[in-house]
Amino acid sequence: MTATSTFDTTSHIKRIFALQQANLQKLKDTTAAERKAKLKKLERYLLDEKNFRALADAMHADFRKPEAEVFLTEVGVVQSQIRYICRKLHHWIRPKSVPTITPLAGTTSHILCEPKGLALIISPWNYPVNLAFGPLAYAIAAGNAVIIKPSELAPHTSAFIKKTIDTLFDESEVAVIEGEVSTAQVLLDMPFNHIHFTGSPQVGKIVMAAAAKHLASVTLELGGKSPVIIGSKVHIKNHAAKIAWAKLMNDGQTCIGPDYVLLPKTQLSSFVEGYSAAVNKMYNPNNKGIDQSPDLARLINDRNFQRIKNLIDDAIEKGAKVEMGATYNEAERYIAPTLLTAVTEEMDIMHEEIFGPVLPVMTYDHLDQALDIVNRRPKPLTMYITSGSSTQISYIVKHTSAGTTCINDYNLGFSNTHLPFGGVNNSGIGKSLGYHGFEAFTNERSIIRRNWGTLSMLFPPFSKLTTRLGKFFYKFS
Ligand code: NAD
Repeated sequence: MTATSTFDTTSHIKRIFALQQANLQKLKDTTAAERKAKLKKLERYLLDEKNFRALADAMHADFRKPEAEVFLTEVGVVQSQIRYICRKLHHWIRPKSVPTITPLAGTTSHILCEPKGLALIISPWNYPVNLAFGPLAYAIAAGNAVIIKPSELAPHTSAFIKKTIDTLFDESEVAVIEGEVSTAQVLLDMPFNHIHFTGSPQVGKIVMAAAAKHLASVTLELGGKSPVIIGSKVHIKNHAAKIAWAKLMNDGQTCIGPDYVLLPKTQLSSFVEGYSAAVNKMYNPNNKGIDQSPDLARLINDRNFQRIKNLIDDAIEKGAKVEMGATYNEAERYIAPTLLTAVTEEMDIMHEEIFGPVLPVMTYDHLDQALDIVNRRPKPLTMYITSGSSTQISYIVKHTSAGTTCINDYNLGFSNTHLPFGGVNNSGIGKSLGYHGFEAFTNERSIIRRNWGTLSMLFPPFSKLTTRLGKFFYKFS
């Protein structure tokens, strides 16, 4: 960015920030019905045939995202969140009375949900609509003004996001600022009340440091390595097929997608057979080649293509066995779905989030070895536990930690709006979805009101009676 364009971006951002700040009281005063009407408008826009076509074309241009996935993993998810919010919002924003402790007789207390104010949503490219409009729905429900900064890596979809918001909202309420990292940095200098960031742990740290300057609250939806731990009494081929589906959704570029698999040594050959058969069934039904499938997206850019190819090369060099894949078409940013066995912890592929169509498999003799491998890494965003034994499932849950845990199925962690979604430490801070999504953009204001009585007996000058009364106060609190 040149000095002039930095100046233009900064003044544009400052202008919108000021406009939104001036509008905060008006937004705070809106009723649940008014907020719901805004969300319904967004839902109708996304479901409109012409707009959906424009979005599908944009996402195809960005990384050949298949149209069915555009609905299943983007528009449908936003729709389900909007519908859930619309069913619950009246209840959520109602002041909630809470009981009073005995020594405070004469007072009443309640919690008032008020908007945090001005929210910044920084979204990634991999589920760009889902992860911009999902948080937006909760921010609007809570009565905030919002600036969205979509990822520059999916430029066609970013333009769609901007057009949608420009069509539906006044910029004093919701605005989209497109741009590269430098634009995000200018935004992060502004004193937002809340920052909702979805992206990598590395950038998450930068966002949190910037938020600290203004003590803005944050929701950090990050990533990392999500393991699949396969235990006993499992139909291994069925699960291999489900894992293949979950892994290759969005071409492996899914934050909650299975990153690597740990399974008993005795199950390896069945897993390999089941995985390869499933990949071919899904993406090569007519034997024309997986690369001809319209149902497999592409990697987002050359940098990620090269990064993932390097991970495969490094693994092979260090002794991994290629069970399928490891073939490439650089011009198309295509890496064939790849299954690696004989993987060890020394390989680079076990040190960073893969974010591509490559599945490393490690085997174990005793379950505790698998848990050690998982526990040596930062706490994952999602943990998959596959087992026919409830005792074993409880054991694994008890001896590990993760933001979300999905048992005997895959990629479901983001689907149930009744559950909080988010990571823990390196995989995230704060939760999204359902009430937790609303809460993230809400200040739960505690209000305590004196109706009669007083605490004047505790005022100075102090005496022995004061301490005795103090003891009574805390004993019955
Ligand atoms: P990213 O962290 O590179 O970028 C995310 C956003 O941050 C983009 O809008 C980008 O412009 C901005 N950004 C990048 N560098 C910045 C900087 N130095 N300062 C300020 N802003 C900056 O992530 P990505 O590549 O877009 O997405 C992939 C990552 O996101 C993966 O790690 C994935 O696991 C994670 N992710 C997490 C979730 C979740 O819900 N937890 C969902 C999707 C993706």
